[in-house]
Amino acid sequence: MPEGPEIRLAADKIAKAIVGRPTTEIFFEFPQLKGFEKRLTGRTVTAIETYGKAMLTRFDNELNIYSHNQLYGIWMVRKAYDWPKTTRSLRLAIHNEKHSALLYSASDIEILEDWEVPEHRFIRKIGPDLLDPSVTVEQVALRYMDDRFKRRRLATILLDQGFLAGIGNYLRSEILYVAGVHPKKRAIDCTPEQVQKLAEASVMLTRQSYETKGITNDLALVKRLKAEGLTRSQYRHYVFNREDKPCYDCGRPIVKEMHGSRRLYLCPVCQP
Ligand SMILES: [Zn+2]
Repeated sequence: MPEGPEIRLAADKIAKAIVGRPTTEIFFEFPQLKGFEKRLTGRTVTAIETYGKAMLTRFDNELNIYSHNQLYGIWMVRKAYDWPKTTRSLRLAIHNEKHSALLYSASDIEILEDWEVPEHRFIRKIGPDLLDPSVTVEQVALRYMDDRFKRRRLATILLDQGFLAGIGNYLRSEILYVAGVHPKKRAIDCTPEQVQKLAEASVMLTRQSYETKGITNDLALVKRLKAEGLTRSQYRHYVFNREDKPCYDCGRPIVKEMHGSRRLYLCPVCQP
């Protein structure tokens, strides 16, 4: 499942193809949305926004297409009407003179009027988006210590989009490792310094991953590992996907565990 940085990178690509251009045709597969095809054709896309793993395509007539990819949805950006070879089912197509933005396999697509956006059941409950530049480390530290979250295991809240938007499975392991905190701990068990480190790592790693297209490891170390001939999958993360490999800090083997039926990697020495 794509995480916040991947969703935002996909959104950037879609935005480049369709924002600021009038649409020439809109297609919806779902019968209940068919009526909107006409109302959105000829209108201009004004922005693509992301809310955690959901995406909002905004139009200049106060209408918005909300889409959530869930597990199987995938966007493809093509030259206009240059259809890809795929057996997936097309759910939404936004065409303009130059490009087609195509959403396949997603089942969660809705039309929202502007006033409905903040009230939407998913958008309403989503936590602060770590890729929003106005979100600060201080705000994130306060959120860790919020009554709603401080007594739940860190491994659990870090995958809760209502806590912070945009964190997914690899970022969860990487944040806990950089903060030096064991996944079974709760924020209330941590020292103020550890909470501060968790907040810093949450913000810093998510933004670095967006800027580097998915790299969470220390960038100076990445440079050295690259020079040594390691591949991207080998140098990409501190601990994620590195079971039995030596910790970059202490040299002890990285351990893989299951938390909430998802993989989690940690260094038992650096994360006591
Ligand atoms: Zn270690």
